[in-house]
Amino acid sequence: MTYLDTDIRYCKGIGEKKALLFNKLGVFTTHDLVSYFPRKYEDRSGFKPIALTCDGETACLKVIVADTPRLMRIRRGMELVKFRAVDESASVDITYFNQPYMKDAVHRGGSYNLYGKIIFAGSKRTMANPVIEPEDAPAGVTGRIVSIYRLTTGLSQKLMMNAVRQALDACGDELPEVLPENIRQKYKLAQTGYAYENIHFPADFESLELARRRLIFEELFLLACALGKMKGKHSKAEGIKIKPAELQEFFATLPFTPTQAQLRAIREAAEDIQSGSAMNRLVQGDVGSGKTLVAAALIWYVWKSGYSSAFMAPTEILARQHFETLSDFLAPFGMRLGILTGAMSAKQKREVKEKLKNGDIDLIIGTHALFSDDVEYCRLGLVVTDEQHRFGVNQRASLIAKGEKPHVLVMSATPIPRTLALIIYGDLDISVIDTLPPGRQKVDTFAVDESYRVRLNGFIRKLVGEGRQVFVVCPMIEENEELPANVKSAEEHAAQLQRYFPDLKVACIHGGMKVKDKNNIMSTFVDGDIDILVSTTVIEVGVDVPNAALMIIENADRFGLSQLHQLRGRVGRGKHKSYCVLVSDSDNPDSEARLKIMTKTNDGFKISEEDLRLRGPGDFFGSRQHGLPAMHVADLCSDMNVLQAAQEAAQELLAADPELSAPEHKALSAAVERMFQQNSDTMN
Ligand code: ADP
Ligand code: MG
Repeated sequence: MTYLDTDIRYCKGIGEKKALLFNKLGVFTTHDLVSYFPRKYEDRSGFKPIALTCDGETACLKVIVADTPRLMRIRRGMELVKFRAVDESASVDITYFNQPYMKDAVHRGGSYNLYGKIIFAGSKRTMANPVIEPEDAPAGVTGRIVSIYRLTTGLSQKLMMNAVRQALDACGDELPEVLPENIRQKYKLAQTGYAYENIHFPADFESLELARRRLIFEELFLLACALGKMKGKHSKAEGIKIKPAELQEFFATLPFTPTQAQLRAIREAAEDIQSGSAMNRLVQGDVGSGKTLVAAALIWYVWKSGYSSAFMAPTEILARQHFETLSDFLAPFGMRLGILTGAMSAKQKREVKEKLKNGDIDLIIGTHALFSDDVEYCRLGLVVTDEQHRFGVNQRASLIAKGEKPHVLVMSATPIPRTLALIIYGDLDISVIDTLPPGRQKVDTFAVDESYRVRLNGFIRKLVGEGRQVFVVCPMIEENEELPANVKSAEEHAAQLQRYFPDLKVACIHGGMKVKDKNNIMSTFVDGDIDILVSTTVIEVGVDVPNAALMIIENADRFGLSQLHQLRGRVGRGKHKSYCVLVSDSDNPDSEARLKIMTKTNDGFKISEEDLRLRGPGDFFGSRQHGLPAMHVADLCSDMNVLQAAQEAAQELLAADPELSAPEHKALSAAVERMFQQNSDTMN
């Protein structure tokens, strides 16, 4: 055992009781303590002459105490210690509230450093409760950049700082250098000892930056190594060996020719499943790029070898729609398809499960009902999950566990920058469908305000007159949410449109409705028997209605960019020229900027990059659904450059030493293991 593993309760000045408080912060060992990085920094490095300070300024002063501190009792429970401090330029009146001991702690004529907020009171400068320390105090908290830590009740900054100082002094040399020397050189990264010292006690801002960069790199590098290693394991895991089949037989039945991008994705996946190793592949493609076909081809492929498939969709509506689309593709071959969703009656479910178990279904499509405990599969060869960002890594795993190492195909319509995808889906191989089927027209997009309402209604009239259908999306309204009067609720808005267009068929669909009713309305719309469908975002992903040519999004400023892009993807799927109108009365410049991006580009990758930049990855992916460990210093979004470098370095290293077993990678390997251990619940 090294000093780094020492339980912090044995550290000087901490002890049993305080240790519990540190534990609350996730700090258990000395190593945790030195890895507990500051939340922010205060620049107390420069001293300012008193005369140059302004009202409200927080400043560091070098002063001499000019009179004897006086203790005053204003009333019961209120004691003041007052004195005057001076430098060559001016004076400042200091007051401490309810710290009577300050009277004896501060001496007339003594030299001190102060840090606090200057307040002008009439012609005088004052400071209340400033940080004070003798000019020559060791390990002081003035005259330098001071770290501020996230604390918990019972711990003070001072205690934390002292504990970290001690730990650093004690273990300084023991801190392992996890980065291989050549990588450190190549990417110009500071040494580990330097980095830990300066992240806590920065000598200056330059050193702080060097330290930060090194630690961010280290963190992302470890993550990339951990995921890369995991992927290495996966890809070596044995899988069902699927026999080669003549895909041409499948393609021949299609009403269209697959795009090159679709063919490539299908070919990559087909190679995987014939290899004898388990496939773990992500197919990433913008909305409308035709991912369903890729899945269908693979499902057909494993069926030719006598295996069944499960297709998991995020919502009931989508499960239904996929059931229909996939039936069109696959039923002609005599494949038997089934559907299983939570909304089905107990009897229906029982029947389907019985068939599944007996091997009477070749492809089952459903929602998360598919991985309930009582569902048993027969010869499950392939699991497809659609719109991956809605499922956690864990959910995916529980479905996979149903088969004997089935192959896994994940489809995502959230185009994310490739570097980030490599990290987030580090355990998956990736196919990108980067072209849309031919003849797809750009969806013309307009951002308008309320003053366009009449014109907009005229436009609806015109398009419906031409036989087209219209989507109108209103923001999701949470119960009890206090909303500004101008925010449209779907139901109200539908009623309004119906009054305005008495001769058109207007319907409304929202999350609060029964699944059966939702399905009914959706299929009526698909059949063309509804002109205007008003909805909340239930239609967000996947729904395919080629005759819909206009998407109107009300209160568009309330949606995220990626969400807007997904919604817009609902139109422009057929041969008709399509439009998207973003209605917003917000005059917030940020909102305006975001909507403007939508009018400028139809490229999902560009949009998601912007979205990521504007919102940060936390929001972007939903509440840690991606299952990544929490980062201590790195920010997956703003540290994109470092991320790329770290990824590159990790790949290079793993190519040379896949198991990290070389002696010079011992520290690295241990750190990677540590990462696995800490996150074993989220990463498996
Ligand atoms: P997404 O990638 O968003 O899931 P879909 O699989 O729903 O896209 O496909 C969108 C539409 O494009 C569907 O109507 C589908 O039939 C059609 N489509 C898919 N591939 C092609 C192709 N190669 N040529 C023409 N149309 C295609
Ligand atoms: Mg889809």
